Amino acid sequence: HLGGIQVAPPDAILGLTDAFKADKNPDKMNLSVGVYKDASGQTPILRCVKAAERHLVETEATKGYLPIDGGPDYRDHVRTLVFGSEIDSTRVCVAQTPGGTGGLRQAAAFLADQMGPTRVWIPSPTWANHKAIFASEELPIEEYRYLADDKKSLDAAGMLEDLRTRSKPGDAVLLHACCHNPTGVDPTLSQWKEIASVVSEKRLLPLIDFAYQGFGTGLEEDAKSIAEILSQVDEAFVCSSFSKNFGLYSERVGALSIVSADAKTSVSVQSQMKRLIRCNYSNPPRHGAAVVAAILDDADLTTMWHDELNQMRTRIKDLRERFVTTMKSTGAGHDFSFLLDQNGMFSFSGLNPMQVDELRNEHSIYIVGSGRINVAGMSENKMEQLCGAVAKVIEG
Ligand code: PMP
Repeated sequence: HLGGIQVAPPDAILGLTDAFKADKNPDKMNLSVGVYKDASGQTPILRCVKAAERHLVETEATKGYLPIDGGPDYRDHVRTLVFGSEIDSTRVCVAQTPGGTGGLRQAAAFLADQMGPTRVWIPSPTWANHKAIFASEELPIEEYRYLADDKKSLDAAGMLEDLRTRSKPGDAVLLHACCHNPTGVDPTLSQWKEIASVVSEKRLLPLIDFAYQGFGTGLEEDAKSIAEILSQVDEAFVCSSFSKNFGLYSERVGALSIVSADAKTSVSVQSQMKRLIRCNYSNPPRHGAAVVAAILDDADLTTMWHDELNQMRTRIKDLRERFVTTMKSTGAGHDFSFLLDQNGMFSFSGLNPMQVDELRNEHSIYIVGSGRINVAGMSENKMEQLCGAVAKVIEG
């Protein structure tokens, strides 16, 4: 039966990590996969997480199943972080999901099963897994313009024109709430207002990916895009993740939140969401969500989390600055200061696929073929080495 099965292509990003692991060069650098690394090159466990885990070891009384949509305490915290405390909670149903990816996959399942199936508009470019996730639920996918031809800024006019002229009422539009992956290019608040107007005018369904809350400007500031959308429309899907902002990557902690126009609709939505989860993974894993809830239930641990998150964000900004100034000092003549306007872990470097190959083959520096760099993977003590290599490949 299985003899004719072909080998699947490796994942474009995680596949690079395999190549990186096999590389024997002691000075190798992995700037591909989106994880935060500290100055010593480690992806640390946050101190607030360690403290919460110690507390859980002492107090956790059971490993029994969680409810299909997760624990109520965790779900309340997700709702407050994502939507603020003002929102009418009877209109929002939240399900704890295995990571942000699990949330996106459940959103896709909901759109396929309950709404159509709905056509989904994704930005060009976007995180590669978006297309695969929607395709796996057989949702039709269209792309709207996002990155301008200079590869450094937002093509706001193109984006709005595509959504205004090519979408039709009932289509879903995928938006990155902040820290757009892979470009680091985000709309300004006034551009969010315009996006929200088109979403409202065209009666589109916003499907918001919120994987980097706190990595842009701050926890509340980064949620302003969502508030802006919800000030103009009364329905939205938000897929959020605690992988990055709590450093809980492997614990798979995320959520799908669906905002409905009224409480009665929300009850139906929640019941269908639970039905779909039940036949997928049945119910979510306990540990990571228990850690998040334990931190957010405790004022001191919450303060510690805010401090640690702020440190990660400011260090990434600092690495951006160091990269730009160190590149200047190489005299390679290529101005990277556009990186300073971008948010989050990623930036499009503008390096072409040949230069990306050369960085890997000649210098053991791994970045994604599109030229996307994980700034959060850079380190202070390897900055000269990195910039020297980039200068070499630019000069050819
Ligand atoms: N959306 C985007 C844009 C992402 O970059 C990521 C993580 N790379 C996710 C969703 C999913 O995150 P998680 O690891 O929580 O599944």
